Amino acid sequence: MSQSTTPSLYAAREPIFPRRVSGKFRTLKWAIMAVTLGIYYLTPWIRWDRGPELPDQAVLVDMAGRRFFFFWIEIWPHEFYFVAGLLIMAGLGLFLFTSALGRVWCGYACPQTVWTDLFILTERWVEGDRNARVRLWNAPWSLNKARLRLTKWAIWLAIGVATGGAWVFYFADAPTLLRELVAGQAHPVAYGTVLTLTATTFLFGGFFREQICIYACPWPRIQSAMMDEETITIGYRDWRGEPRGKASKARAAAGQPPAFRAQEAALASGAVTFAGVEPVAAGVAAAPRLVGDCVDCMACVNVCPMGIDIRNGQQMECITCGLCIDACDEVMDKLGRERGLIDYFTLKDEQVERAGGKAKKIWRHILRPRTILYTGLWSLVGVGLIVALFIRPAIEVDVSPVRNPLYITLSDGTIRNAYDLRIRNKHGEERRFSLSYSAEADLDVAVEGAENGIITVPADQTGDARVYVEASPGSTAAEAGRTDLRLWITDLADAERASVDTLFNGKAD
Ligand code: SF4
Ligand code: SF4
Repeated sequence: MSQSTTPSLYAAREPIFPRRVSGKFRTLKWAIMAVTLGIYYLTPWIRWDRGPELPDQAVLVDMAGRRFFFFWIEIWPHEFYFVAGLLIMAGLGLFLFTSALGRVWCGYACPQTVWTDLFILTERWVEGDRNARVRLWNAPWSLNKARLRLTKWAIWLAIGVATGGAWVFYFADAPTLLRELVAGQAHPVAYGTVLTLTATTFLFGGFFREQICIYACPWPRIQSAMMDEETITIGYRDWRGEPRGKASKARAAAGQPPAFRAQEAALASGAVTFAGVEPVAAGVAAAPRLVGDCVDCMACVNVCPMGIDIRNGQQMECITCGLCIDACDEVMDKLGRERGLIDYFTLKDEQVERAGGKAKKIWRHILRPRTILYTGLWSLVGVGLIVALFIRPAIEVDVSPVRNPLYITLSDGTIRNAYDLRIRNKHGEERRFSLSYSAEADLDVAVEGAENGIITVPADQTGDARVYVEASPGSTAAEAGRTDLRLWITDLADAERASVDTLFNGKAD
């Protein structure tokens, strides 16, 4: 093939100008947007009193202190299994929702969807609804066009800054960091993060929009593997809508007289052959319908944020946001026809309805072995995490025996082993701990540099102590190889205890 005939593999993006729509799914999307954005922007500002020694921010990822605070819950680095458990629950939750309700995450709660919705909303405020935006897009540059564009971009930028700003507030005390950011005294990493998130929010929400879902996000591909013919998704009842078009045009083309609205409705339902002709008698085959319920008004296409026509069948681009349902229901209401030409249903329902049967109830699609299994696994992990959360101790102890050398012999023949003890005090105040042991041998324990053997650990900190365990000359432990040893710490405030097992090395080792 010569170069001149090589087809281009690149297609420029067709701009999409979604029209405003109202209806139950649009209302639901507004509500979810308000809740999710409210949670995201406001959470870092919620205060939570943990006492004088600990941060009072309800949700805080304290990188410096290596802690994660979530209201009354505090996760330490060695408790990362809680985070892992939450991630597993999030994954199972997505499996569950996708197998039951298809791409409901994409359509309602994904950040890309929520922020794109917000950006489209501001675009509509500034530039007007679909027709005005199309006109503006096609108009040559003028002062008015520049003014509208700059106003819109300024608002998008403000949203981007607020979004990037809110993110860094999760990693430091929000009021302090805000003052530092404004005064130019924050850490460069904070400015870099705000800048990066501002740019990505501005570009993804303002310019890339549906392209992120179609080309960048791997989730649509993964989701299709989780969906089956029982999954609830969006579809067009083509057996009811086709042949599409206006009834008057269809009749004119067929050489029939114009009809009144009621006659049109009867015609569309198939109760009569066409206007002016007697209803079909029982047992007599009806003449083919001239038109279906779809009047080809393009309302469903014009509201679609992905720019697709759902009447063409299932498409990977469809995020199942339900806006085309609202748009079509509005049209059906105006025409006095039954709602649901576009609707949530399953591929199985489609076959049943097409054959003249009645679709199953929604809950029967949701309650099936697969979704019950996902729910069971999700609950199992959740219950496990809750139990682990409530039974975890407030003090913990670890030990590392000093192995080089395993033991030393003092001048009087005493055998001494050394250990590095690490105590985690998860209380919000300083705690003092006494040290003791249990073993099948007589030993002495001592803490290096500690008065009366008491180890003090500040609030919410880890305390390290060098511990010596000694066996007197000629004793069983001194002469033996290894002796099992359990070290105990006791909180002097409330007698709470924790222990750790180790070994005492004697001369025979
Ligand atoms: S086709 Fe309908 S459900 Fe799918 S993305 Fe477009 S408006 Fe949303
Ligand atoms: S909104 Fe309904 S009637 Fe209008 S084109 Fe879409 S499917 Fe047809």
